[in-house]
Amino acid sequence: MKKITILGSTGSIGTQALDVIRKNRDLFKIAALTAGKNKDLLLEQIKEFNPEVVAVAEEKDAEDIKRKVNHVEVLWGKEGINIAAKDSDSDLVLNALVGMMGLVPTYYAIQAGKDIALANKETLVSGGSIIMKAACDHNVRILPVDSEHSAVFQCLKGNDLKEIKRIILTASGGPFRGYSVEQLNNVALEDALKHPNWSMGRKITIDSATMMNKGLEVIEASWLFDIPCDKIDVTVHPQSIIHSMVEYKDGSIMAQLGVADMRIPIQYAFSFPRHLPNNLKTLDFYSVGDLTFEKPDKEVFKCLQLAYDAIKQGGSYPIVLNAANEVLVHLFLENKIKFLDIQNNINRIMEEHIPVYHTDLSIILEIDKEIREKVLRKCSLQ
Ligand code: NDP
Repeated sequence: MKKITILGSTGSIGTQALDVIRKNRDLFKIAALTAGKNKDLLLEQIKEFNPEVVAVAEEKDAEDIKRKVNHVEVLWGKEGINIAAKDSDSDLVLNALVGMMGLVPTYYAIQAGKDIALANKETLVSGGSIIMKAACDHNVRILPVDSEHSAVFQCLKGNDLKEIKRIILTASGGPFRGYSVEQLNNVALEDALKHPNWSMGRKITIDSATMMNKGLEVIEASWLFDIPCDKIDVTVHPQSIIHSMVEYKDGSIMAQLGVADMRIPIQYAFSFPRHLPNNLKTLDFYSVGDLTFEKPDKEVFKCLQLAYDAIKQGGSYPIVLNAANEVLVHLFLENKIKFLDIQNNINRIMEEHIPVYHTDLSIILEIDKEIREKVLRKCSLQ
């Protein structure tokens, strides 16, 4: 029986992960759950999955939960999440938190020797160097949950990393595929929140619309598979049937295909190296239609280019890219800035940045904080 802790159990990935566990109770058991503000859903999850430990963002919610359930340890705040990640009795921790807040608990969980199922790409974007080193030092596996990285991971199985020519990440293109800069200038929040193929949390949905999501995935892939970004290409594949590909030096291309259902890569991260049966919908080739591919337009969707620039320049640039993006997406979600302000401001912040090349956890957190404050000042909102 594998014991699993879920950080972010009330979110899109977290609830789908619980569905995988619900259907495989003979194989997986919940050790701990953490949530942000959705204490009602967490209470339901406590009743159904019986964790030993839970954590929430606010103390008042923790007190409320304690009054309602008495067989569970209830923690709160960042420290509570860190404790749930590292001290709960689990074999594997799923990081399904949103944003850079996933970094610290993941780092501690690795130090406690727990395998990581990683959905939260911001962890590797900001802290790739320390996370991969800690995983190596503690002999911990980082199992990708992001569908693209799960696809690459599967296409690499049994093959030699040295024989890879390139990784090809597929992108749906998001709701604004084919738009010009002029068209993007006028898009509304509601339009940006309508992803054509996937139902996800609000932050990643906006990242998909700006194509920053694909940029973050390029950086994530570079760390996960130890491959330079000039060997990672992105192709727009609007049908989201091919989840990503690996091309080998002899010209063979391996692809992983399937329906767009995150429970498949979540289940694989939980059951690796096994492909367990499930009752999810499978791909019907005869109703798929054409599979098409387009070059991404990095001049219009600048975020993708900025992510390539950030990982190429290295050092603290990816931390800056991520921190600026998180704040700007948040402002856009609050209708305080326009869609194009996201990419234009990230560009400016990166141009002004004086890089740091030796980072540890405290330096990463410091740069992240500095950039967040700077973005708010620039947008005159602080
Ligand atoms: P959601 O926004 O749906 O969920 C985020 C989770 O984090 C929720 O459980 C939320 O709690 C919790 N959370 C947010 N703020 C805090 C806080 N301050 N303290 C504690 N917990 C907090 O995100 P997604 O599930 O969509 O995405 C999670 C990660 O997975 C992201 O990094 C995303 O890029 C990645 N990913 C997501 C995919 C998807 O299909 N959704 C696909 C591939 C990758 P609450 O709701 O209770 O406030």
